[in-house]
Amino acid sequence: MQIALITVGDEILSGDTVNTNAAWLGEQLTERGVSVERVLVVPDRVADIARVVNESLAEYDAVIVTGGLGPTHDDLTMDAVAAAVGVPVEEHTEAVEWIEEHSDYSNADLVSGTTHLPKGSRMLPNELGVAPGAEIESVYVLPGVPDEMKAMFEHVADEFDGGPHFQEVVPAGEPESALIDRFDVLRERFDVKVGSYPGDHVRVKIEGSDESTVQRAADWFRERVDAPQ
Ligand code: ATP
Ligand code: MG
Repeated sequence: MQIALITVGDEILSGDTVNTNAAWLGEQLTERGVSVERVLVVPDRVADIARVVNESLAEYDAVIVTGGLGPTHDDLTMDAVAAAVGVPVEEHTEAVEWIEEHSDYSNADLVSGTTHLPKGSRMLPNELGVAPGAEIESVYVLPGVPDEMKAMFEHVADEFDGGPHFQEVVPAGEPESALIDRFDVLRERFDVKVGSYPGDHVRVKIEGSDESTVQRAADWFRERVDAPQ
């Protein structure tokens, strides 16, 4: 299963907000064996959001969009997703009922538009906030506020299943350039993906769909590399 993540917000592009939503979702999805193929950041602009949602939907199995659900002038994501799949937005009865039952708000108190979702979408309840999310044609629209986004993702997490995924990280006390030959042998001998991440020391990440292969590959490499001091 291949997916694209789209994070919406001028504040992410300007650096005011760090894109922790994309990092968290990337980790969750990878653990589920789902391949995150793109992370795209787009401004609070309907045409831009609609275009990348539409293009991503054509290319990947599912799309997750976060941010821009609330009732303020810069919350345009629902309109954009609706445009991307060619439907209008309309008041969603289940969203109204859910909010009236589970929050202190009555529909009359809510800012107009809060319960408007793309026509025909499934409402995703917001356990920690107000503005509901939605799913339509495998486009999942989640809130921008990280805690709200995480809670809503948990609701639908089982719909993201890319099969088994295992990984081991082996720390290496040698420069990357010295490890190239061993990486080549590792990739030839074992059916694994090898990632090399320099920092204080190099972290070598070994991933694959078979647990014992990943284990044997990590053991093979660990025996042939110096540990960091
Ligand atoms: P609300 O209903 O509260 O308006 P929303 O779904 O419309 O929520 P945004 O208005 O886009 O979400 O963002 C709300 C807050 O969530 C931002 O001020 C920012 O702090 C945080 N946020 C938004 N997107 C991200 C992101 N990708 N990573 C981390 N934090 C984010
Ligand atoms: Mg908002």
